[in-house]
Amino acid sequence: MKWEDNVRKVIPYVPGEQPNKEKMIKLNTNECPYPPAPAVEKALREMDMSEFRLYPDPNITGLTEGLADYYGLKKEQVFVGVGSDDVLAMAFLTFFNSDKPILFPDITYSFYDVWADVFKIPYKLCKLQEDWHINPKDYKQENGGVVIANPNAPTGLLESLETIEEIIKANPDVIVIVDEAYVDFGGVSALPLLDKYENLLIVQTFSKSRAMAGMRIGYAFGNEKLIKYLNDVKFSINSYTMNKPSQVLGLEMLKDKAYFEEIVGKIVKTREWTKKELAALGFTFPDSKTNFIFASHESVPAKELFEALQKENIFVRYFNKERLSNSLRISIGTDEEMQTLVEFVKSYMEARRK
Ligand SMILES: *Cc1c(COP(=O)(O)O)cnc(C)c1O
Repeated sequence: MKWEDNVRKVIPYVPGEQPNKEKMIKLNTNECPYPPAPAVEKALREMDMSEFRLYPDPNITGLTEGLADYYGLKKEQVFVGVGSDDVLAMAFLTFFNSDKPILFPDITYSFYDVWADVFKIPYKLCKLQEDWHINPKDYKQENGGVVIANPNAPTGLLESLETIEEIIKANPDVIVIVDEAYVDFGGVSALPLLDKYENLLIVQTFSKSRAMAGMRIGYAFGNEKLIKYLNDVKFSINSYTMNKPSQVLGLEMLKDKAYFEEIVGKIVKTREWTKKELAALGFTFPDSKTNFIFASHESVPAKELFEALQKENIFVRYFNKERLSNSLRISIGTDEEMQTLVEFVKSYMEARRK
């Protein structure tokens, strides 16, 4: 078919499975195991449906101002989008407009190369070191922009603020995006660098630490000029990106700081317990500062364990990719869920030995 020659063809990103079984333990997409704050439920119940007739606020004012207040910024330094995937896609489209390749690690969030392809942005992968850490020197070659997830996925490893600053400082002529989807679980945010570097864009999300993946809320911090450019592109594609309930409920979630700190604290505690248990079973993993553990075992092939877990309705993430295919990315659930997982792995390994 001739028309097919004229189609923009892409290989899409493959999101984690969203199985819907009655009794399942879902540890495959790094969601929060706890519900949003009580005020979110209250606001949802009290929502005035007649307002759904009307378009939502195109400027997402409440949430933008709420985030600015929360993080001590001006509202002109904040951009809100429909999940950080939306924010990142807009940022790629806005800031990566060079013939030179953008740079990001060979092992990182696997959406980056998909956006680069769909927007026809050239890119070059920088190989992570043996210990899975970034080598900042790799980011000192000619480029059209840089993207770093910190902490990184699926490794869970955190880079120091010094490393991040070294990369931003070395690239004053391009935009450096720091994707902080997991920063709340023990990371160090690049936020304090915002005043110092015009070329820095920080992206965060409500999907992991704020228990609202289903509402699709993400945001970016940058200087006023960067945020204006980002809004210009957004308003050239779709003005009414975020629906009204997400705008209202997101703000309610943001207001309850104590609840947020409580659930994040619980997840970190459960993560540390799970690390100990998995280590005792002979698993190795980078020292995660996220809400997941990227674990492998010398004598248990990851794919086999993945399939055995699936049969038990325990879902984790397996990447059939070079350097990743002998590890499983296990999201941190509730204590009970992690105990069930550990117990199953124990009995599985015992049965295997026989
Ligand atoms: C989960 C994730 C995102 C996207 O999350 P949204 O649900 O779209 O906000 C972005 N970057 C990384 C590294 C992630 O793990």
